[in-house]
Amino acid sequence: MTVRQVLADCGATDTLAVQISGPSGICLAEAEFDRKIAFEDLPTAGAFMIFDETRDMFEVARNFAHFFAHESCGFCTPCRVGTTLVRNIMDKIAKNHGSPYDINELFKLHRLMQGASHCGLGNSACNPMFDTLNKFRPAYERRLMSLNYEPAFDLDAALSQARQMTGRDDAAAHFDEHPENEAEA
Ligand code: SF4
Repeated sequence: MTVRQVLADCGATDTLAVQISGPSGICLAEAEFDRKIAFEDLPTAGAFMIFDETRDMFEVARNFAHFFAHESCGFCTPCRVGTTLVRNIMDKIAKNHGSPYDINELFKLHRLMQGASHCGLGNSACNPMFDTLNKFRPAYERRLMSLNYEPAFDLDAALSQARQMTGRDDAAAHFDEHPENEAEA
């Protein structure tokens, strides 16, 4: 039976994506709905999650990233550290501080954790990010505020207490991340 047939049988409409076999499985876009539920193609382990067009696939993947960071047992370093780094990068992108550098980091972590983790949880923990990046990339790109590197640490926000204590709020008391803009102006 195809994925499309299952969706028709259960009355699903406006389907954006189907997650097969849980968070560590595979995320299908509409173009793949003619694939078959079968051991040779899409083994489901009984899990079949449907997301309609109102859903944001970046937030779906971010939720899975939090799940894996929580579930990692901590026995091996690639998974213990990797799942936390992935979760932090997804949170950084969600706060509009992400950049293409972070997207590359996600792909690098995916390769590292797949090859070096001790068990299947670490091996598959980046699957939701890998699939949604490849199939729903605009959901990520519309959150990227810059095409360059963006630091995870907001130095200007960290200086706010010092500004308060000294009673200063002029331009020189702020950290300018893009001094070249000032020169152009
Ligand atoms: S890969 Fe497996 S053994 Fe290693 S930390 Fe993750 S859950 Fe534990």
